[in-house]
Amino acid sequence: MIRIVTLSEFPPDVIDFVSRRIHAAYGMGCEFEGEGDVPRGAMDDEQSAYDAVKIVEEMDDDVALYADDKIIYLINEPLIEPEGPMGRGPVDGYAQYGGGKAVVTAHGLGEKGSLPLDVGLAKRAAHYVGHLWDLHHCFDPRCAMHPGWSPGFTQYPEVALCLFDREKSERKIKLGST
Ligand SMILES: [Zn+2]
Ligand SMILES: [Zn+2]
Repeated sequence: MIRIVTLSEFPPDVIDFVSRRIHAAYGMGCEFEGEGDVPRGAMDDEQSAYDAVKIVEEMDDDVALYADDKIIYLINEPLIEPEGPMGRGPVDGYAQYGGGKAVVTAHGLGEKGSLPLDVGLAKRAAHYVGHLWDLHHCFDPRCAMHPGWSPGFTQYPEVALCLFDREKSERKIKLGST
């Protein structure tokens, strides 16, 4: 089961849309669990953004009832990642590769040149859920695993996986549900 926890306020129909699209993309149940609080200390005052890695690492995962449960946290505020080769920059989300938790922001969606809130959030969420099953970035611009910073990502509003990623996720899901 994929469990959605909101860390900001979202219209219920948007959350409903996101969960239905994730369910369709992975063929796995996806439910809204409720609201959570951003862990204290995840705020980066200097950049007035949240540290995506800290959120994922410090969030309580007690909504995960089974070992193969995945939790996706949705937030409105901007996210940043710790210092990396590309610097300390804004990100649209962060996932524990092959792990259980991911965070995705709706920040920037609905603006000019970007996808609308519902579609954009569903696509970003599907992308980071994919990373939880070890899916890597994909060259196919129609695939949800295409990187969010690429212009191709905003060109295709459908939440879809290419054949390769669909099959890989199906194998991972089968392996996980023992
Ligand atoms: Zn990615
Ligand atoms: Zn793909």
